[in-house]
Amino acid sequence: MRPVDQAAGHEGVLQDASGQLLFKPSCAQEVKFYTDVQGDENLAALAELMPRFLGTLTPGKMIENLNDSEATIVDGTIKIDNDATYIVLENLTNGFYKPSIMDAKLGKVLHDDSASEEKKQRLSAVAAATTSGSLGVRIAGMRVYKDNQPIVYDKQYGRSLTEETFHTSLLDFLGHLTGEHRDYVVSRLYMDLKAIESAIEESEIRMKSASILLVYEADPEAFLQAKQYAETQQEDNQSESSEDSSVSAPKLIAHARIIDFAHSSIAPDQGPDTNVLEGIRTLTAVFDRLIDGEI
Ligand code: ADP
Ligand code: MN
Repeated sequence: MRPVDQAAGHEGVLQDASGQLLFKPSCAQEVKFYTDVQGDENLAALAELMPRFLGTLTPGKMIENLNDSEATIVDGTIKIDNDATYIVLENLTNGFYKPSIMDAKLGKVLHDDSASEEKKQRLSAVAAATTSGSLGVRIAGMRVYKDNQPIVYDKQYGRSLTEETFHTSLLDFLGHLTGEHRDYVVSRLYMDLKAIESAIEESEIRMKSASILLVYEADPEAFLQAKQYAETQQEDNQSESSEDSSVSAPKLIAHARIIDFAHSSIAPDQGPDTNVLEGIRTLTAVFDRLIDGEI
């Protein structure tokens, strides 16, 4: 077990040795949301755009040594912090050699109805002072490779952006990429954002403080390998019988997924989540401007 490279959020998100699995301290509401979405065939398109949910690790069952405060792996047994329940997810940074990551938090309203008065006021104040309130989306954080070095943009970075300067976050994220590398990354991310937009339009759910996680391969060599991999995948589509997903060679160019459902629930007969849609549309609009060469 080792820490995963995070763009934002609470620390303590872990991955297994292979990098395929991610372990995040979580809560009953997030477990319920994953379970509800994966069990509802009307939400199949949405489920495709979330990390795969594999289950939970419950303290007392999987943990041998309750005095351990850190996650370790000993003799093949996972030992983790004893007072957190972890959810086990697909690690969205797996398949990348040098993943650049952006966490874009969605919504003008960031609290759910069950939040305390104090929390409602605090989150409303943050929204009012940031692009959450004006654009329905705010950069919670980024971790971007530039010249082979990871550069961390913390939460203050995203809070300091305004309606007018929000688009510069996209330039800080991927504006330094050039040529084919840039074109592929931009088009893959854009494709996923559009898919997320339409899945949300067709789903009856409510998400508060969920994010879109955008990830791309920052290493130029690894990008070329991933591109080649994608091309061979296409060629021997049917002949490829057993795909060895444990090999950690760079395989992905870029993708975007929705994450963080501690305050999300399904909402039958309530229609689409317009609070979240507004933020997604802001993001796709900034991508449109980038693609058109306007920024
Ligand atoms: P919170 O904001 O409540 O701490 P999140 O679900 O937003 O929890 O996770 C925090 C950070 O962990 C995210 O910003 C992201 O960088 C990373 N992360 C979360 N889930 C995944 C995942 N499935 N794959 C890769 N990274 C993830
Ligand atoms: Mn988060």
